[in-house]
Amino acid sequence: MKKVLITGAAGFLGSHLCDRFIAEGFHVIGMDNLITGDLANIEHLFPLKRFEYYHHDVSKFVHVPGDLHYILHFASPASPIDYLQMPIQTLKVGSLGTHNLLGLAKAKGARFMIASTSEVYGDPLVHPQVEEYWGNVNPIGPRGVYDEAKRFQEAITMAYHRYHGVETRMVRIFNTYGPRMRVNDGRVLPAFFSQAIRGEGLTVFGNGEQTRSFCYCDDLVEGIYRLLMSDYADPVNIGNPSEITVMQFAKEILALVNNPKAFIDYRPLPVDDPKQRQPDITKAREILGWEPKFNREEGLKLTYEYFKKVVKPA
Ligand code: UDP
Repeated sequence: MKKVLITGAAGFLGSHLCDRFIAEGFHVIGMDNLITGDLANIEHLFPLKRFEYYHHDVSKFVHVPGDLHYILHFASPASPIDYLQMPIQTLKVGSLGTHNLLGLAKAKGARFMIASTSEVYGDPLVHPQVEEYWGNVNPIGPRGVYDEAKRFQEAITMAYHRYHGVETRMVRIFNTYGPRMRVNDGRVLPAFFSQAIRGEGLTVFGNGEQTRSFCYCDDLVEGIYRLLMSDYADPVNIGNPSEITVMQFAKEILALVNNPKAFIDYRPLPVDDPKQRQPDITKAREILGWEPKFNREEGLKLTYEYFKKVVKPA
């Protein structure tokens, strides 16, 4: 039986990946230090013999006994509010954590995947973003701790690939949403859903004209699985190219939740907030035969079912 180590296992994406690898018949080791993760996301896996949970901070030496075939490094604070509050942990998990896990991959002969991000493109001057674009990142801005950690992560992963022959994969993840997102993580979708359900103001930053492209989590997991099983070592964008403004997004959530008390509440735009973001997924289409299947209407409905359970009206 193939064994996979997933870091950030108790987080939003990590937990969905654990589910997928369990469904594919793997033995799954989920690792997390729970600074942003929540065991509730993987509690249902604890009774399974093929699932193990290790409570560990991967920026310290990582030991896993026995064989290991795959490592997916998905641990990191991932929302702008998280990395403002945890700048050092964000830098360490992307740099020291990645180094430790690459060492583990080398020792075990395991295939290694990093969760990279559209943030490597910064506030992009090329639109939509192709993998060949090198980005426009402010290294000392508030988002720099995340962006530069992820850029370092790509660099060290490529170095281990080239110099040590480690099999590596890099997925550049664009905005993703779905059940198990943390209600208070500050990202736009959990913020808007919880505000709409409670009948509060939806905090639209700036004039709401900035754009994002939102991918439903099941689509993302499928893309990640295909990339891991492919033989392609360069970065691949995985995301949904359907682009909208933040204001349009607020209106869609208002219409779905339909709470007459909710309204739009303009707030200042955070520093270095990217003005536009849309993945070019030509590579994913050609190399992996992948493209998203869920449109926003379907994805938002499924996600609303989750937020209805975890957020109570005021
Ligand atoms: N945003 C917003 N209100 C919020 C949270 C976020 O208007 O309460 C905006 C934010 O300024 C950004 C977009 O929504 O332009 C996406 O923000 P998020 O924090 O979800 O992730 P990002 O894509 O910036 O990493």
